[in-house]
Amino acid sequence: MVIETRSPEETFRAGVEFGKRACPGQVFTLKGDLGVGKTVFTQGLAKGLGIEEPVNSPTFTIVQVYEGGRLPFYHFDVYRIGDPEEMDEVGFDDYVMGEGVSLIEWADLIEEILPAERTEIRIEKDLEKGFDYRKITISELK
Ligand code: ADP
Ligand code: MG
Repeated sequence: MVIETRSPEETFRAGVEFGKRACPGQVFTLKGDLGVGKTVFTQGLAKGLGIEEPVNSPTFTIVQVYEGGRLPFYHFDVYRIGDPEEMDEVGFDDYVMGEGVSLIEWADLIEEILPAERTEIRIEKDLEKGFDYRKITISELK
């Protein structure tokens, strides 16, 4: 599925829809360059889960846990990861196999340890279509 957006608000609203429909144990992997809108989408998804707390990229921790919504939400940002093995230390497998909803920004950096079954979301710019244009491609991987 492809969703095209033309503002941060539209990307946020796309995230809300996925958050509303998210199931226990669902894993979202977000891929795309810096500043493409991964965190904006994540903030919408958290909102759709009913989380009222502000959600930002965890800068000093790899994972941030939000318990205030319909399901627990595990927000990973692995941008600063040196080696996928570092994910063992934060208990990555336990989160991903748990009952909450996991979302991983910069999932490309830990490709080899991603669960096979996941909702993969790639966000891309296309400057020919304007500075605020984003193409969001969603694939259900099994
Ligand atoms: P990432 O997490 O991918 O590094 P962010 O979500 O932090 O990116 O930032 C995306 C930036 O792009 C924000 O400054 C946002 O306002 C801007 N932006 C412009 N147009 C869009 C759009 N259509 N969707 C999402 N973000 C957009
Ligand atoms: Mg981000």
